[in-house]
Amino acid sequence: MSQRTGFEHDYLVVGAGSAGSVIARRLLDAGHSVHVVEAGSADDDERVHNPQGWPLLLQSPLDWALMTVPQRHANNRSLYWPRGKVLGGSSSLNGMIYVRGHRSDYDAWAYAGCPGWDWDSVLPLFKRSEDHVDGESAWHGKGGPLPVSRITEPHPTAAAFVEAALALGHEHIEDFNGERMTGVGFNHATIRDGRRMSAWQSFVAPVLGNPALTVTTGAHVHRVLMEGGRAVGVEYAADGAVHRAYASAEVVLSGGVIGSAQTLLLSGIGPAQHLREVGVEVTVDLPGVGENLHDHLLVSNVYEASRPLPPGKANLLESQLFASTDARRPGPDLQPLFLHLVYPAESYPVPEHGYTIAPGIVRPLSRGTLRLASADPRKAPLLDPNVLSERYDLEALVDAVELCREIGGQAAFDAWRKAEVAPGPEARTRDDLRAYVRRAVGTYHHQVGTCRMGQDSLAVVDPELRVHGVEGLRVADASIMPSVPSGNTNAPSIMVGEKASDLILAAS
Ligand SMILES: Cc1cc2nc3c(=O)[nH]c(=O)nc-3n(C[C@H](O)[C@H](O)[C@H](O)COP(=O)(O)OP(=O)(O)OC[C@H]3O[C@@H](n4cnc5c(N)ncnc54)[C@H](O)[C@@H]3O)c2cc1C
Repeated sequence: MSQRTGFEHDYLVVGAGSAGSVIARRLLDAGHSVHVVEAGSADDDERVHNPQGWPLLLQSPLDWALMTVPQRHANNRSLYWPRGKVLGGSSSLNGMIYVRGHRSDYDAWAYAGCPGWDWDSVLPLFKRSEDHVDGESAWHGKGGPLPVSRITEPHPTAAAFVEAALALGHEHIEDFNGERMTGVGFNHATIRDGRRMSAWQSFVAPVLGNPALTVTTGAHVHRVLMEGGRAVGVEYAADGAVHRAYASAEVVLSGGVIGSAQTLLLSGIGPAQHLREVGVEVTVDLPGVGENLHDHLLVSNVYEASRPLPPGKANLLESQLFASTDARRPGPDLQPLFLHLVYPAESYPVPEHGYTIAPGIVRPLSRGTLRLASADPRKAPLLDPNVLSERYDLEALVDAVELCREIGGQAAFDAWRKAEVAPGPEARTRDDLRAYVRRAVGTYHHQVGTCRMGQDSLAVVDPELRVHGVEGLRVADASIMPSVPSGNTNAPSIMVGEKASDLILAAS
């Protein structure tokens, strides 16, 4: 029995991101004591709160700024993966788009062995979080902690994007979280009164005075502490020393798709052979930890503008399109996003004034892995999403590039377009576009799946989010998603936090 030092609480929540913030709040509201242990810092940087500040946070101290291993189907390039290292996690540096995905995403989870996660079961959880500007409806909630607003004064180029897609026959969508999501429209966003509403600001900041809450920032959790097959606490590094914190009820890992899997592996919970190779003692042989890493892929079709663009009033990501490569699909598989700034395509020129029509795919088939580079917790893990390893992903992205080019060529953009910079006029054939995709493919930061939920032998957590083979330990964040939803992943991660808190409280 190790000696217990430090604070003891009912629950330890590792990671104050989209999911962790929700869990902390719901457990506090239910009368429990909670210790939140977060590697990043406080969110007192003004760029976090200004909805236009997010591009400036990339590669800043608030960003883990990870790199993948060289991607063999993408010209051996390493891809840059920003993740939030700050209270609020990635919800403090994301693009604030509020999209839940398609109902079939969640029904597929349920069919794949996750009962209770079908659309009809999770819709009330999405609504419970929400304080939607339109009020209560079949699709939205009122009075929850998370403000969701509409883009009321769109940037003229964001409006041109909508007009261009409509001219091509795409349906106008008022609300991507309503009855239908396939079509073009303006986003809803986690913004209120001109301020970003991160999960931390929405869920935890209002209850910071609660004496049952302890928040430790700058605390990098290295491993879970176990006693007789039960998780009892965590070991973390802070201020140059190693500390321990304990929980009497449960430890909840909400470190995100990278942090949670890495923490499990460092705790000896993972594929036994891999753990032995890197010199970590095996606690539980759980072969699925770090498997199933996948992501939404994005390219940047960049346009040089004929004149400087006026400043926008919202999140720089005001309009988007959901489309399908095949009308027989139950939901969309393409998501062209519009940005009224130059979001550079790697190795292509960066014009002084411009805008971006970014082709994205939302039903990727490629799957990769997260592995430890070393038993040293300070070393970043090896991230191999294996992008474009499936032919469909490449072809769907090329379809998306062609679609974005069509949109960019519409009359609605005549007043703004000077030249297409990427892929550029020299890219003419479909083969040229395949080469462009391999050269420029990146991410729009929706990695999921490394601690996949399910009941099969590669599942890491069960549908109650309990780690297989360990008592008192759950994972709750984007890492548990069996497959990435067909939309941006902040709202789904917040929903995972809501569901996790119900499951935890039901067991308390
Ligand atoms: C640049 C960017 C733009 C995005 N844009 C959008 C968007 O517009 N809309 C949208 O819906 N989604 C967007 N996303 C994705 C979305 O924000 C994430 O999917 C979501 O926030 C993930 O939530 P999470 O709870 O799984 O992890 P996170 O929110 O990343 O939280 C994990 C937390 O755990 C902490 N942590 C990790 N490891 C440890 C450790 N060992 N010890 C202690 N703490 C640890 C991290 O510092 C972090 O605070 C974007 C993401 C990024 C990075």
